[in-house]
Amino acid sequence: MSDETPICSAKGCRTAAVWVLAWNNPKIHTPERRKTWLACDEHREHLSEFLGVRGFLKDVVTLEQWQASEDAGPSVAG
Ligand SMILES: [Zn+2]
Repeated sequence: MSDETPICSAKGCRTAAVWVLAWNNPKIHTPERRKTWLACDEHREHLSEFLGVRGFLKDVVTLEQWQASEDAGPSVAG
């Protein structure tokens, strides 16, 4: 039931996401908190620039890498 395709976060875009932009707004989030936006190839630059100019952008990784690192997280159950 987890095989729904993640879709790009750009407004109006229905393309499958291949990038994860991890960001944090220090005014409203604790430093270790990560919000994520998904992006297709076409919108990765646009979205990361949007976050970058505000100083929010922390990391840009492929969806594959992001999911792999989530799997490798504190939960070992599976
Ligand atoms: Zn897109």
